[in-house]
Amino acid sequence: MSNMLNVEEIFGENVFSLGKMRERLPKKVFAEVTKIIDEGGELSLETADVVAKAMKDWAVEKGATHYTHWFQPLTGITAEKHDAFVTNPDENGHMLMEFSGKELIKGEPDASSFPSGGLRSTFEARGYTAWDITSPAFIKEDAVGAILCIPTVFCAYTGESLDQKTPLLRSMEAVSQQALRIVRLFGNTEATKVTPSVGAEQEYFLVDREKYLQRKDLIYAGRTLFGAPAPKGQEMDDHYFGTIRERIGAYMKDLNVELWKLGVSAKTQHNEVAPAQHELAPIFATANIEVDHNQLIMETMKKVASRHGLHCLLHEKPFAGINGSGKHDNWSLVTDNGVNLLDPGQTPNQNIQFLLVLACVLKAVDTHADLLRQSASNVGNDLRLGAHEAPPAIISVFLGEQLEDVVEQLVETGEATSCLEGGKLVTGVSTLPDLDKDATDRNRTSPFAFTGNKFEFRMVGSSDSIASANITLNTIVAESFCEAADILEKAEDFDMECHDLIKKYMTDHHRVIFNGDGYSDEWVEEAERRGLPNIKSMVEAVETLVTPKAINLFGKFHIFTEAELQSRAEILYETYAKTTNIEALTMIDMASKHIIPAVVKYTKFLADTVIAVREAGADSSVQSDTLTEVSAYLKETKATLNVLIHAQAKAKAMPAGKEQAFEYRRNVVTAMEALRKPVDKLEMIVDKEMWPMPSYGDLIFEV
Ligand code: ADP
Ligand code: MG
Repeated sequence: MSNMLNVEEIFGENVFSLGKMRERLPKKVFAEVTKIIDEGGELSLETADVVAKAMKDWAVEKGATHYTHWFQPLTGITAEKHDAFVTNPDENGHMLMEFSGKELIKGEPDASSFPSGGLRSTFEARGYTAWDITSPAFIKEDAVGAILCIPTVFCAYTGESLDQKTPLLRSMEAVSQQALRIVRLFGNTEATKVTPSVGAEQEYFLVDREKYLQRKDLIYAGRTLFGAPAPKGQEMDDHYFGTIRERIGAYMKDLNVELWKLGVSAKTQHNEVAPAQHELAPIFATANIEVDHNQLIMETMKKVASRHGLHCLLHEKPFAGINGSGKHDNWSLVTDNGVNLLDPGQTPNQNIQFLLVLACVLKAVDTHADLLRQSASNVGNDLRLGAHEAPPAIISVFLGEQLEDVVEQLVETGEATSCLEGGKLVTGVSTLPDLDKDATDRNRTSPFAFTGNKFEFRMVGSSDSIASANITLNTIVAESFCEAADILEKAEDFDMECHDLIKKYMTDHHRVIFNGDGYSDEWVEEAERRGLPNIKSMVEAVETLVTPKAINLFGKFHIFTEAELQSRAEILYETYAKTTNIEALTMIDMASKHIIPAVVKYTKFLADTVIAVREAGADSSVQSDTLTEVSAYLKETKATLNVLIHAQAKAKAMPAGKEQAFEYRRNVVTAMEALRKPVDKLEMIVDKEMWPMPSYGDLIFEV
């Protein structure tokens, strides 16, 4: 049967995995490579040559013609420049496919056109890419052919990072070092490394490609900028986990195969809350690999969609009025001898190491709530966070009944003597077994929820890289581990000191715990009383990167220098301004060239009809009332369009930076909202045949 898939066979088929290296590399070379993967260090050029040759041979066997250093500049997506393996032909005109160790480990793209936030000016355009040996090379197959992709980091000539990967790797080392100090205190002498494991659940929308191509806003902005609601939204709860339609099923199947080939362990797929919305979750992986995989997931989602006559929207809020998309970043810390530091065990109240780790995480999240909030902000997420569909912009931690009870006991009495138990879930049906109940229910409204043996950071935007969120998590937790280890390593009575420290951290930071409804207005007030920051937008969050607290934190663990932080802040302001500018120009274009002309035609049609109906001696009041109503909205459209044109021009003329970003947020965004209102009203009245683009209903219900 042609439909049969041999998943075991295709899984990782396009990855130059450790297994393939073991098969293809001389023993000694393989040992050198694995040693560097485990312990760090540099490949000698000699060894690199051997690895490069094996990698090239494998890639060529699989049909690859080019290689690329695949990196993640600060655009949020990936970058690649292909080089063929071809070399100068010999005197007989014979060409040999070559790839040297030098080409494997280092690249030098002319990178002056990537965002650098002032770190690098165009006259010193040198940027370097360097192989991240801990993330395997892979082959991407698409219309350009098969390309060998080598995951790399991307730095300036001066060594400053210009990408997401470098700080991520730095943060992984920092949290590993500090976490090791903690596990040593509890007698674990075997572990040599602690790795952040990450699983990112990816939400996305699929729309019909033909319809997508008729919407300038989807093409340029990735989201609808106009659009009256469809008669039906998500109120029936009939899409979430609903049966997957054939067309979507075929897409998901194809997507899975592509991802499995790339070694991405796509596992879970389902329909999401909003119509036309879906989710894919892979099995978790080491943080840097998961960051790569998530980029591959997003890229492959788009690529496969076009094959199926679909278009994949990764924007955080493609449609107003229904849920947008996010990414749940599941995060835990695991030692290389298999201990998950976030596993509470059956009786968390007796698991002192777990309680200390938990106390440290609470402290980290409370102390650096502003940075976590920042790490999950992007332009699209401004439309989603706090809109009663995604976590609020306020950071809080959900622990669940069992752990919250343990924390309360510790805070109140200094001892946690008891522990709530899960018990049985009684189904009441004699043929069904009673199920063991988790001691903790779920809470979907919390931005940072403990879910059994990991934390789930639910704020990240669907189109964003998960790198920043994980850099921040790793670093803030490294800091609190470091502070705890500094105290405990010197303790005379370890048990006593540890007990006191857990109590202190929990007491000082339990204000950040919240188990209630994060979508409610009461929580916003309550959070304010507790003094928790509520940073409402992306531009307001940027500043958190350059506070003395942030500079000190990221500097101490060598994640970002002050200059790198400044440059990232600059880039974020610019990104906000540029993105909003594109959206404003798209609205201006659509309103001026499509919507107003269409409505003008409709008014002409109505006016002619009024006359014709009158002449025929019939009642023309419906026609003339409609004409009056349409004309009024048309006038409002023109007026609000003019306001937007001025607001955009004014903001665009300002020098790039913070002021400009705030100008866009304050005046341009407001003017965009004002223009949308009369247009959406018009869409409800104007003859559908004459409306210049597909409606929300067409887009989300007719996929
Ligand atoms: P849900 O939607 O119920 O939260 P999913 O199964 O869709 O659950 O997603 C959970 C994600 O968390 C998956 O990507 C999974 O691999 C990941 N995950 C599970 N355990 C861990 C862990 N210890 N550390 C990091 N991620 C984990
Ligand atoms: Mg989840």
